[in-house]
Amino acid sequence: MLDIQKIRADFPILSQKVNGKPLIYFDNGATSQKPQVVIDAISKYYQKINANIHRGVHTLSQLATDAYEISRGKIQNHINAKHSHEVLFTSGTTFGINLVANGFAAILKPGDEVLVSALEHHSNIVPWQMLCEKTGAVLKVIPMNEKGELIMAEFDKLLSKKTKIVTTNHISNALGTINPIKYMIDQAHAVGAAILIDGAQAVPHLKPDVQDLDCDFYVFSGHKMCGPTGVGILYGKEDWLNKLPPYQGGGEMIKEVTFEKTTYAELPHKFEAGTPNIAGGIVLGTAIDYMNGVGFENIQKQELELLKYGTKRLLEIEGLKIFGTSQEKTSVISFNIKGIHPYDIGTIIDKLGIAVRTGHHCAQPIMNYFEIPGTIRASFSFYNTKEEIDVMVEAVKRATLMLS
Ligand SMILES: *Cc1c(COP(=O)(O)O)cnc(C)c1O
Repeated sequence: MLDIQKIRADFPILSQKVNGKPLIYFDNGATSQKPQVVIDAISKYYQKINANIHRGVHTLSQLATDAYEISRGKIQNHINAKHSHEVLFTSGTTFGINLVANGFAAILKPGDEVLVSALEHHSNIVPWQMLCEKTGAVLKVIPMNEKGELIMAEFDKLLSKKTKIVTTNHISNALGTINPIKYMIDQAHAVGAAILIDGAQAVPHLKPDVQDLDCDFYVFSGHKMCGPTGVGILYGKEDWLNKLPPYQGGGEMIKEVTFEKTTYAELPHKFEAGTPNIAGGIVLGTAIDYMNGVGFENIQKQELELLKYGTKRLLEIEGLKIFGTSQEKTSVISFNIKGIHPYDIGTIIDKLGIAVRTGHHCAQPIMNYFEIPGTIRASFSFYNTKEEIDVMVEAVKRATLMLS
């Protein structure tokens, strides 16, 4: 078992008081906290090696370039990509999805179909809608059931020769559902469609193996997995990345520029125009090292305990309903209390130092399905404890009494 107190000591923010109370941070689904090694690595970069990458012959530029490429290699190993040039640095999940959706504008014809799951974050809906508007392709939705699971029989029916790309999250940010992506990838490929997996909520909890999954694209953000904001990864199969046009034009992504014609650089540089978030890219490697040091098996064990305990304790509260009751789920509990607006609970428990997310969680279609304005979402990380859950349960009880 993990020594949770030792782990918590790695995260300076966790010993802070908020509104005079010890911070209880249950908003990990929005962003995770950062361990001291990550914070130190950011300042070390700016103190010792800050320089632009891939450009200068001078020593610091070489050091920065090496550190950036070493980090790319770490990420390649972590997700088991075949080639390091299949691992593109982006600013985050949103950017990665937009890059792919934009690229498909050159591929789709009117009447082609794009399948999007009903469980998506807005950033995995809107870029595909924009793509369909641009190309005349048709957006179809893979429906969900009241447990918050995608209905695979309906998915199978929607697939056809017209399907050109399928997109789904690995894990739902709003409900915690773990989707059967291996099955979905195989089924998409069976009709000749590509498939993109939004792994933003998966990478904090598990280690995806992109070759075993055989997905065409896998995207995630650094900031939800102990890394800094403003950096993320788009994994794409080499063939697909060669097929897609560049997303942004600029420095670093070219082979040769004249006013008559520009030729593009090889992968991964073709998709990495301009000066990237160099510190972020390097430190994402540090964050991944940290998480592997804790160990994903340990992380999962601890988080499953928290999920089970939190579910049991919350259900003691009268009128409380949990949304998202899939067998396969991560440590996210989305709930409401009968007759009370989620925002009101969130505001009161914030005064007690407890950070939860309230609202639609950038997934309005899910809220529309349940006919609710939003939920209170407690999302646990491996550094959280059962004692913190006890404090939250008491706080929610207190808030409920005040509001009813
Ligand atoms: C957070 C999240 C996103 C968006 O990530 P950004 O880091 O804001 O770009 C997309 N999809 C899911 C499932 C998420 O949880």
